[in-house]
Amino acid sequence: MTTTTLAKRIHNFGAGPAALPLPVLERVQAELLDYAGTGMSVLEMSHRSAAFEGIIQKAEDDLRALAGLGSDHVVLFLQGGASLQFSMLPANLRAASASADYVVTGHWAKAAVKEAEKSGRARVAGTTEATGFDRVPAAGELQLDPQAAYLHFTSNNTIYGTQWATAPEPPKGVPLVCDMSSDALSRPLDIARYGLVYAGAQKNLGPAGVTLVVMRRELLERVPAGLPAVLDYKLMAENRSLYNTPPCFAIYVTGLVLAWLREQGGLAAAGERNAAKAALVYEAIDGSDAFYRGHAQPGSRSAMNVTFRLEDAAAEKAFLADAQAEGLDGLKGHRSVGGVRASLYNACPRESAAALAGFMGEFRRRRG
Ligand code: PMP
Repeated sequence: MTTTTLAKRIHNFGAGPAALPLPVLERVQAELLDYAGTGMSVLEMSHRSAAFEGIIQKAEDDLRALAGLGSDHVVLFLQGGASLQFSMLPANLRAASASADYVVTGHWAKAAVKEAEKSGRARVAGTTEATGFDRVPAAGELQLDPQAAYLHFTSNNTIYGTQWATAPEPPKGVPLVCDMSSDALSRPLDIARYGLVYAGAQKNLGPAGVTLVVMRRELLERVPAGLPAVLDYKLMAENRSLYNTPPCFAIYVTGLVLAWLREQGGLAAAGERNAAKAALVYEAIDGSDAFYRGHAQPGSRSAMNVTFRLEDAAAEKAFLADAQAEGLDGLKGHRSVGGVRASLYNACPRESAAALAGFMGEFRRRRG
């Protein structure tokens, strides 16, 4: 894939659906009317065709190569977003008599608990709500159930801008489950530590409409009989995500992003690029003499979503309006917390992070 200039494209800091790599969009455009000589678009193609079989297989192969997955891992391309995983996960992996542990580090972690409680027992093993979710808990703060069906955590908290530097350690025999919706494949992944990880594609991996699940094959033994078909990990795995019509186009674009990530040097290189982008924005915060106030405590800062406040709502409004006028889009904080949020996912170019950092300095000089 070739890279062209960013001339007419805005700096997109949206939290998701988010920026896609320009070479991927160009490839989609080039192939839109005639995919690989088939004379039709991927949008028009049977999910049982040889061409689509090739697309989904290549996407899985690239994901396996990026994440270092072996035959003991199952890859699923599902629908329903990460939100459906909040209920699909306990339905499949938590026995009727069992309880599951959740670490609550933000809005989405809470939503996961709420859904899990609808169908059985879920226990909060630790929370940082008391300080406005400005950090993730230290290992010593977690009270873990050694009998839990699994331990669930959210690796990156999209709204608050916090991220776990390293995953929590579950008790022996308890599978670790992670909602990686906002930092999947943004840094090296030690998949051996996890029983299951899931992520909606629309931030780091592709467009909205497909949700990735990677799980240890042996966990399929827990799947109870009688689940609705499309909510059954085992059935979906047996049918290689083709039990029913999958989100074909979203899988195709996600496949192109995965191939692009490989071309760019894989997860270690992605991690370095993402850390460098985030550092530019955090330096603009830290060097601002408290003109900008980061929400996350330094030890829990996210490389994906940088969240900060200005002196008051009026200053934030002016900041966002001026940023927009400079071509810096999508910076408004989540409606539940306000302020500013810059999302710097895989496809956000370094130039965008640098442009934001430059604008932050300029705005401060003008207003400070
Ligand atoms: N988990 C996290 C960490 C998220 O950021 C989001 C979406 N912003 C979700 C879950 C919900 O994802 P979806 O909209 O795909 O259901």
